[in-house]
Amino acid sequence: MMDAKEACGVFGVYAPGRPVAHLTFDGLYALQHRGQESAGMAVSDGDLITVMKDMGLVTTVFDERKLSGLRGHLAIGHTRYSTAGSSDWINAQPVFRGVGRTGFGLAHNGNLTNTDALAEQANMLPGLVSSDSDLVAELLGQQFPPDLPERTRAEHAADLEQALIEVLPKVEGAFSFVLMDADRIIGVRDPNGFRPLCLGRLDATDEFDQGWVLASESPALDVIGATFIRELEPGEMVIIDGKEIRSVRPFPNERLDPRLCIFEFVYFARPDTTLYGNEVHGARRRMGQLLATQRPVDGDLVMGVPESGVPAAEGYALGSGIPYGQGLVKNRYIGRTFIAPTQAERANGVRRKLNPLRENIAGKRVIVVDDSIVRGTTTRAMVKMLREAGAAEIHLRISSPPFQWPCYYGIDTPDRTELLAAIKTLDEIVEYLDVDSLEYLTLEHLVQAIDAPGAGFCDACLTGNYPVPVQVKVELTGRPTVTVAAGSAPA
Ligand code: AMP
Repeated sequence: MMDAKEACGVFGVYAPGRPVAHLTFDGLYALQHRGQESAGMAVSDGDLITVMKDMGLVTTVFDERKLSGLRGHLAIGHTRYSTAGSSDWINAQPVFRGVGRTGFGLAHNGNLTNTDALAEQANMLPGLVSSDSDLVAELLGQQFPPDLPERTRAEHAADLEQALIEVLPKVEGAFSFVLMDADRIIGVRDPNGFRPLCLGRLDATDEFDQGWVLASESPALDVIGATFIRELEPGEMVIIDGKEIRSVRPFPNERLDPRLCIFEFVYFARPDTTLYGNEVHGARRRMGQLLATQRPVDGDLVMGVPESGVPAAEGYALGSGIPYGQGLVKNRYIGRTFIAPTQAERANGVRRKLNPLRENIAGKRVIVVDDSIVRGTTTRAMVKMLREAGAAEIHLRISSPPFQWPCYYGIDTPDRTELLAAIKTLDEIVEYLDVDSLEYLTLEHLVQAIDAPGAGFCDACLTGNYPVPVQVKVELTGRPTVTVAAGSAPA
C-alpha cells in the first residue's frame, strides 16, 4: 500500500505583492537535487487555491505561461523523488484536500513509520491511501469542523492549525511538512528533525512588505534573495500569516530528540546548504582531510567522483599533500543520478554520465574519493572506466562508513540484500570493485568532520540503530509477508 519512499524538497513563501509562483519555481529549482520525478506548487490569493503538478523536472512542469497564471500572495511547492516503480501522477505533490472554506495543501519530505496504524485510525481501507503524505492530508481533513454557512472567515482561520495540533502527535517517523490554506503557510519538523527545514525572510522594500520563506535547504532562500534566519527546531511548527511568525510546539517534550540525517551531510544536501549551523561543503572537505589520515597510501593524483565526491577529494588532497586533479568529466545535462530499473541499465547510465580524462589518469596511481557506495554498480563501472583509461593503481577512499542498512526515514535506498556493504566483506568488496585498496571514513571521523558539538544524528543507515521503530515487511520464502516492528536493527 503505502510503500512510496519520499526523498523530497519542500518550499513555501508568504509574500504579499510579490510573484509567489515565480519565487516558488526558483526555490524548487534550487531543490531539484532532492527530487527529480515530479514537481508541483499550490498558490493562494486568499480565496482560491490553485494546484499545478506533474511528472518531470521543475523546468518540464512549469513555464512562464503557467507561472504567470498562478496568482496569489502565498504558495507552497514540492519536488519528489521515489523509486521508478512507484513513480505516479497520483503521488505528485502538493497533496490537496478541499475542506473548510477552501481547503489546504501539503508538501512532505520524509517517510512515516506508523502508516498502517494511522490508516486504521482514519478508517481508510487498504489501497485507498496512495502515499503516507496523502494519509496525513486525510487525517487533517477529518479534523476540520463542518463547513456551516454561518461560520465566518475569522472562525475558519485556525482550522488547519487546530487540525495539525490534533493530528501531529499521532504521526511517527520522518516529516518536514510545508502546508498552506487560503491565508497562511505552515512549516513543521518532526520531533527528531530527521529531515532539514529552514526559515528565511524577504526584507521589506519600497515596493513590497516583508515576506517569509520555508525551504528544505538554505540555497532555495539565497536564490530568491531571502535572508537565512534559522533552521526550524525539531518538533517545531511555524505559522506564517502576516508580518510576524508564530512558533508552536505540538509534540510532547519526551519525543524531542534531535536526529538530523547524517547522510544529508555525506551526500544528499547541496554543498552550499547550512545544516546544524555549518556549510555542508566545509564538512565534506573535513571528511576528506580526516580520511587522508586513515590508512595513508602513496599516489600521484587525488580525484573526486563528480560531483558529490569532489569536496571530500579536495580535503583528501589537502590532508595528504598529494596533488588534486580531475580524472572524470560529468555530462552536466544528466541529472544527479541516472535512475534505471536494472543493474545493467544502471551500469550503462554511468557511461552516459562520466567520461575519463585519459591524459590525467594514464600511468598514474590515482586516489579516487567518493562519498558513498550503495549498491556498488556505479562505483564498479567507474573503476573499470579508469582502468581502461590506463590508471596504474586505483585506491578508493569513501568519505562515509559502509552503508549497510536501508533508510526508512525519507531517503530512497534499496533493501538490505542489495546494499554492497551488507552482503560482502571488505576483501570481497575490494575484489568486486577491482580496486587496489579501499578505505571508509570512520563514524567518529564523520561526526568530527561535521563539527556540530552536542548535535544529535540519525546514523541508522551506517549502524542499524533506528531511533524510531520501523515497520519492515520481510518476505520469508514460502510464508506470508510479516510486519516486524523494530527499535534497532531490523532483520
Ligand atoms: P552505487 O555504488 O552504484 O550504489 O552508487 C553510489 C553513488 O550514488 C554514491 O557515490 C552517491 O553519489 C550516489 N548515491 C548515494 N545515495 C544515493 C541515493 N539514495 N540516491 C541516489 N544516489 C545516491
